[in-house]
Amino acid sequence: AEDDGFQNEPLTDFSLEESRTKMQAALEEVEDQFGKEYPLLINGRAIDTKATITSRNPSHKSDSLGTVSSASADDAIDAIDAARRAFPAWSRTEPQYRAEYLELIAANMRRRRFELAAWIVFECGKPWEEADGDVVEAIDFCMYYANQMRRLAHPLHCDVPGEENVYFYRPRGTVAVIAPWNFPLAILTGMTVASLVTGNTVVMKPAEQSSIVAAKLMDVIHESGIPDGVVNFLPGIGEEVGPELVGSPDVEMITFTGSRDVGLAINETASDTDTRQKMVKRVIAEMGGKNAIIVDDDADLDEAVLGVIHSAFNYAGQKCSACSRVIVLESIHDTFVSRLVEATKALKIGPAEDPGTVVGPVIDEEAQQRILEYIEIGKEEATLALACDTSDLEDEGYYIGPHIFTDVDSTCQIAQEEIFGPVLAVIKADDFDEAITIANDTPYALTAGVFSRSPAHLNKARMEIVAGNIYLNRNITGAMVERHPFGGFKMSGIGSKTGGPDYLLQFLVPVNVTENT
Ligand code: GLU
Repeated sequence: AEDDGFQNEPLTDFSLEESRTKMQAALEEVEDQFGKEYPLLINGRAIDTKATITSRNPSHKSDSLGTVSSASADDAIDAIDAARRAFPAWSRTEPQYRAEYLELIAANMRRRRFELAAWIVFECGKPWEEADGDVVEAIDFCMYYANQMRRLAHPLHCDVPGEENVYFYRPRGTVAVIAPWNFPLAILTGMTVASLVTGNTVVMKPAEQSSIVAAKLMDVIHESGIPDGVVNFLPGIGEEVGPELVGSPDVEMITFTGSRDVGLAINETASDTDTRQKMVKRVIAEMGGKNAIIVDDDADLDEAVLGVIHSAFNYAGQKCSACSRVIVLESIHDTFVSRLVEATKALKIGPAEDPGTVVGPVIDEEAQQRILEYIEIGKEEATLALACDTSDLEDEGYYIGPHIFTDVDSTCQIAQEEIFGPVLAVIKADDFDEAITIANDTPYALTAGVFSRSPAHLNKARMEIVAGNIYLNRNITGAMVERHPFGGFKMSGIGSKTGGPDYLLQFLVPVNVTENT
């Protein structure tokens, strides 16, 4: 990377006793906070609504974590109005100051990192290390976008005798940020601070399932001293506030991360131009994946097994980057599958707050039902090679153990549709070319991986795999800010990569001024 001074925040090393003690203490402190109420925040004012969302712990479904106000369409109008009124002053704030706000937000998160991670563990069922990674990525987004904005703040000059030209960027206006629950802090933070640092104002709509983590982010942002109305907190039910946020003539941009269906619906609604609208809406939508890892016949199978397991089953497969297809060369297929199955059996399934847990619960009952339906479909279409049993946890939370299907044809539903759970389809390929053809045979193009020792094959993969993030001889999740700018194309998304050098440009309009001198 260019030497911009950015450094990734280090992950917590939970092999150290000291870190484990801090995390345990944070979990206990957060547990003492259960049952609180969290209001909306519009124009700096806390608003309690009649309707509320009860936040639950997916690891222990009877535990309620607290209640969050649930915005109505009218609240959405108020939030958009507050953001619109805050825009003129905020857009004129020096980029340098806006960048400093992001650094303050990052400093607050560093100070509260165990507390934030603990909320992520409880509210989203994320095991420790991944919850810590979520906080770290949020900090990275703040620091990286702050730096990127400083770079973009320099106007470009192109003067000729008798004429001076200056090229620079302006913000777009009000941004509706619509975020998912699976990276409850990182993704919401990334989309929000990118909007802020570029001089836009924000209405922040988190996923219902992660409303408290979002309230904590609002708190962190508020503590940074950002002016009222610049960020407005609008938790609520997507169906109730979404149409207002996306359809409003006063929203200039929508940045969304979530499912393909919702992303496409947002894109459609946003393109339906209202006569009162002053700008064509810009939509950024990061959507799903059906990501494949190819295991070549000369691959290091120890590495391949670990990489596939990590990519497919960590956080119960609930990442858009997760591996849901593994394409294995015929000659090593049976050996690979038996090792994959054995190693998967050893994964510890349990509540996210237990330090040893690798596979926690899925997010809620609806997700559990959807994944179970896909497992039933898989049984019709293919061979069930492994179903990890979770019956002892059935009454406790929304658990689904890792499932592996073999004899899967690329046209099967479980090989084509995003399941967003711990379900992996193994597909056999005759040779490496066929493996690439199969890898590219879905509507998505997000992540992909290859395990191979052949430089020619790795090179072929580099050139021919259709995906936004291609990983060679490693796992395919856990993209790091700046090092692995993240995002896909085809049905995986509209827009440029998060944590990458082009991301902020989407939040800006370029202006050129020519003066005849
Ligand atoms: N950036 C994450 C990763 O690389 C995935 C984000 C998502 O699931 O939306 O694993």
